[in-house]
Amino acid sequence: MNRVYNFSAGPSMLPLPVLEKAAAEMTNYNGSGMSVMEMSHRTPVYEAIIQEAEANLRKLMNIPDNYKVLFLQGGASTQFASVPLNLLKTGKADYVVSGMFSKKAYKEAQKYGDIKCIANSEDKNFAYIPKITKDMVRPDADYVHVCYNNTIFGTKYPEVPETGDVVLVADMSSCIISEPVDVTKFGVIYAGAQKNMGPSGLTVVIVREDLLGNQREDTPTMLNWKEMADNDSMYNTPPCYAIYVAGLVFKWVLELGGLEKMKEINEKKAAILYDFLDNSKLFKPVAEKDYRSLMNVTFVTGDADLDKKFCKAAEAEGFVNVKGHRSVGGMRASIYNAMPTEGVEKLVEFMKKFEAENN
Ligand SMILES: *Cc1c(COP(=O)(O)O)cnc(C)c1O
Repeated sequence: MNRVYNFSAGPSMLPLPVLEKAAAEMTNYNGSGMSVMEMSHRTPVYEAIIQEAEANLRKLMNIPDNYKVLFLQGGASTQFASVPLNLLKTGKADYVVSGMFSKKAYKEAQKYGDIKCIANSEDKNFAYIPKITKDMVRPDADYVHVCYNNTIFGTKYPEVPETGDVVLVADMSSCIISEPVDVTKFGVIYAGAQKNMGPSGLTVVIVREDLLGNQREDTPTMLNWKEMADNDSMYNTPPCYAIYVAGLVFKWVLELGGLEKMKEINEKKAAILYDFLDNSKLFKPVAEKDYRSLMNVTFVTGDADLDKKFCKAAEAEGFVNVKGHRSVGGMRASIYNAMPTEGVEKLVEFMKKFEAENN
């Protein structure tokens, strides 16, 4: 079997055992005589799939009972509108702009209220996470929005930002289930599935129950969290197959030992790459040390032509999708849960060889 090491930022690698299980069940799921893709969502066999997926995510993330888990569509980008539509009461919200996605979220929210950017790290092309303190937050803001892991720039929050009594909302698209988080510190966590949970088409929203029901009058039904919660994410047809695959991924992480174990693996894996970058004479890490992402590792040679040469040579060796986002340039290795440690070790070996030949 010719599997490559796929460093794509998303959609990205899925664990091989998950793909194999999905393949084995493709045409006849659990004796039903049909594929999960062919099933009505309103049947006991499918209901068991979505319920098990939710139960396993709750277990994995230790999600308290007073939080709802929603399985929605439209990607994380739809939540950029859903968040203000569902949460604005005073009409005020504060945003931290730490990268391209948080900037998009900030811009989208401006359509709906008095939206303030309280911190921004664009001065250094988002190579760090701005420090947030309680006194920066407007006390009458309905929430503070952050992007917890900046997929494009390769940075993440070193700790949960301090927002006092103001509800914290986090886009965790590229770091969800990569390590434990204390869900109780957040009012809302949302994430597109295609980075670390499963196929695209599914967006997970974890929302504290007391925050539901404050949506604007004109909120589209499909974006109304309360409506979706009241209907167990089945107001209409949910992204059935994507939920099934995400469910397999949750089970895979649980069987591996849960998020504590996942964190240990991810830290080790990222360290292999960062340690090499810190000592390399050719490659330089982009993100500032204190804010390094465990999931997206950005680096450059400092020479755009050499970067290009590297990406091409890497691809020929089976290390694919290492080209950085155009706003950063250089390279980005996305090493989500599904990337085996061996993939990172081999990439570093290849980088050493490339360095010896090109320095
Ligand atoms: C990929 C990504 C998004 C956009 O996700 P879509 O599902 O494509 O809308 C938003 N935020 C973060 C942090 C991302 O990594």
